[in-house]
Amino acid sequence: MPIYEYRCTDCGHVFSRLQKVGATADGVTCPECGGANSERLVSTFASTSPGSQRGASSCGAASGGFT
Ligand SMILES: [Zn+2]
Repeated sequence: MPIYEYRCTDCGHVFSRLQKVGATADGVTCPECGGANSERLVSTFASTSPGSQRGASSCGAASGGFT
């Protein structure tokens, strides 16, 4: 199962969730504030480096690499 990263839009806390492939942000709550408004960041497997998340750009093709 992949690990999805989420950012709470209420408090800005970033956290990761182990979810099924194709799972949505439904029901994902922030462990910090309990808010239900989280946006998914780029999914990663191993590289969890806090502070270097690439923002959720509106175009969905974020598959690694610099442009
Ligand atoms: Zn929060």
